[in-house]
Amino acid sequence: MTTVVTSALPTSDALRARVRDALAAVGARVDLGEPNAGGVTASTPINGDVLFTVPESTVEQADEAIAQAAEAFTAWRLTPAPVRGALVARLGRLLVEHKADLATLVTIEAGKITSEALGEVQEMIDICDFAVGLSRQLYGRTIASERPGHRLMETWHPLGVVGVITAFNFPVAVWSWNTAIALVCGDTVVWKPSELTPLTAIACQALLERACADVGAPAGVSRLIQGGREVGERLVDDPRVALLSATGSVRMGREVGPRVAQRFGKVLLELGGNNAAIVTPAADLDLAVRGIVFSAAGTAGQRCTTLRRLIVHSSIADDVVSRIVSAYRQLPVGDPLADGTLVGPLIHETAYRDMVGALQQAGAEGGEVLGGERVDVGDEGAFYVTPAVVRMPGQSEVVHLETFAPILYVLTYDSLDEAIALNNAVPQGLSSAIFTLDLREAERFCSAEGSDCGIANVNIGTSGAEIGGAFGGEKETGGGRESGSDAWKAYMRRATNTVNYSADLPLAQGVHFG
Ligand code: NAD
Repeated sequence: MTTVVTSALPTSDALRARVRDALAAVGARVDLGEPNAGGVTASTPINGDVLFTVPESTVEQADEAIAQAAEAFTAWRLTPAPVRGALVARLGRLLVEHKADLATLVTIEAGKITSEALGEVQEMIDICDFAVGLSRQLYGRTIASERPGHRLMETWHPLGVVGVITAFNFPVAVWSWNTAIALVCGDTVVWKPSELTPLTAIACQALLERACADVGAPAGVSRLIQGGREVGERLVDDPRVALLSATGSVRMGREVGPRVAQRFGKVLLELGGNNAAIVTPAADLDLAVRGIVFSAAGTAGQRCTTLRRLIVHSSIADDVVSRIVSAYRQLPVGDPLADGTLVGPLIHETAYRDMVGALQQAGAEGGEVLGGERVDVGDEGAFYVTPAVVRMPGQSEVVHLETFAPILYVLTYDSLDEAIALNNAVPQGLSSAIFTLDLREAERFCSAEGSDCGIANVNIGTSGAEIGGAFGGEKETGGGRESGSDAWKAYMRRATNTVNYSADLPLAQGVHFG
């Protein structure tokens, strides 16, 4: 597959200068260590270099952060929710002001193209708006009591410290989904970001601390700890952490989920996806191909909602595949900071090796591989690829795996039942889509006998969710829901209250006692 490669990569010195400028602009005070100074390395997938190091949190520092958040909770839970909302409103305004600074850091650390990095920060701004509105709601319900002179109701109360563990590929948005909602719910937060994205985390923390100072909120409402899984395990095992919200691979969820359950903590898991789109003969193919290309090749295939499987009716499969391949040929691959680039780098060499391994396995399982080549950008340490389309003869082992790279497996079907069965045949259950103008097909896909995923779209791709709906998936994706709708309920505890305002003491179910 031929490729368009955008301009030469920026030097590490130029990237370091941009990082320093962005951190200074958001007001972050941090000692950036030399690349070999030890601690958490801040690398960039743009050229594969280590730019800086930042200190890794010790066991004692992690404990201290949890203690500070627990202490702040005792006051924060009593602060009226609309006043808590004022903090999130201030954070939202600071994010508007520093949208470009934060987006630059996202691009440098995670490799997202500028437009997608700006979109990620916009998502933070949107969730702040949502959370501010929510701070004047958080409604319970009143239920008809079976006893005269009684009021039966449900009320919602702050939960405690929320531990937030995040993945590299949404280094700022996922923190904000959790933090904006947790803060208005009266919780405090301790965040352990991905060890691959420590700088964006420092910038977010600086903005939140500024917002706290501006509105007079205790700084302990949000703490940041840095490091790898050992540091994350402090949040997993600490009984002061009432809810652990963890985003990442299924492997991580398998380790973390049972450990939190062991101590009867609450857990919210947002894990891997293996998302499919069905294209039926009734689809608008121009629209479908645009949606498929963005979902499959955007973010270089490194979204949890990336389209990984295309289930296309056998009568149109050749046409659809040839349109996708010709669209892929036009996609500029290269420096994600450069104007016009649409496909940036893979996060690191391991991601590239995983992609190569998956394509070899697909070939061995009978797949015909188009694309998926490494692109020479003049730097050995950076891993840029063309997106791959793989026509598979049928179900196979590799199709059931989430390979975090731009690989689109194409399967064919002859009946809608077969297509829906293929959609549901993988262990993950995050996102899904159908492209069709046939109302019956669309409605069946969204019905109880349709897609088994947390997200089921019609005539749009699998990625790019809005914050208004609850976000998350079923099966090995973990079952958690974050972001909009009533996802806030996971961040609060529910109390059922029965108030007797009569002079009698009737027992429920007509029981007589004495
Ligand atoms: P990862 O699982 O390697 O790491 C995610 C986070 O978990 C990191 O902060 C890491 O340090 C931490 N971690 C790993 N093992 C841990 C342990 N045993 N205890 C405590 N913390 C631990 O994932 P990644 O490579 O950063 O991100 C890519 C994965 O995340 C993909 O599978 C993707 O689908 C998934 N993801 C899911 C969603 C979602 O909302 N469902 C969103 C983004 C990413």
